Amino acid sequence: MPEICEVETLKNQIKPLVENKKIIKIETVKSLFKEKNLNFNKIKNLNIIKLHRVAKKIIFEFDKNIFLETHLGMTGSWTISTLKNLNKKQKHLRYIFYFENFILLFSDIRGFGSFKMTDCLDTTVDVLNDNFDVNSLNIWTKDKIIYSVLHDQKIFPGVGAYLGAEILFDAKIHPEKKLINFNQKDKELFQFSLKKILLLALKTKGASFSDYKHLKEETGSMQNFFKVYGRVNLPCLICGSLINKLDKKRGSQFCPVCQKK
Ligand SMILES: [Zn+2]
Repeated sequence: MPEICEVETLKNQIKPLVENKKIIKIETVKSLFKEKNLNFNKIKNLNIIKLHRVAKKIIFEFDKNIFLETHLGMTGSWTISTLKNLNKKQKHLRYIFYFENFILLFSDIRGFGSFKMTDCLDTTVDVLNDNFDVNSLNIWTKDKIIYSVLHDQKIFPGVGAYLGAEILFDAKIHPEKKLINFNQKDKELFQFSLKKILLLALKTKGASFSDYKHLKEETGSMQNFFKVYGRVNLPCLICGSLINKLDKKRGSQFCPVCQKK
């Protein structure tokens, strides 16, 4: 499943193509499970003022305060093509966005992506904002472990399996460490590693797994920098201990020696 840095990369690729352009037509090939207030006639021939990314949504802002929020879900993807090369019979195709000189295709194998039209911009908290600071979060008195909070999409939207595992390993924090046991130094380490790993994931254009590719079918290279994610039972790159895993949880890999509770 794409995490926040893959979505940011994708947004940066689509942005220069669509801003100040008009969508001539949107065609629904096959609906998604989650669609809300979709009325594509409303945006026909309207100018796209700006393309935003908020958490894991890519949002098209049109004239007249109309916003189209799109979410990749588990297996959504955007690709670019031309009218000449358009193959409407390609598997899993959901929507076709027709522009003057190109077309954008939204495909989704499982159909858990979502499309929604609204009249205002989503203002969800965003971990990629420069001013995102874990110190200011209202979480530190909770009797919960950091693993579950870091994967709570309301608190750290877009942080999924690989980012979570790599952030905690970098900060040398055990995934089962309780929030109430974080001292100021732990919080600072956590904040530092969060920013560092997000930045690395942005620089490498995210990770490419078997089911996800960027526009134009490109791949990211973050997977080459994984230190714990996907390395269960392999030796820790720092101390040589075998990488362990919280029972059955995806992305809960950790070094039992380097990462402290
Ligand atoms: Zn270690």
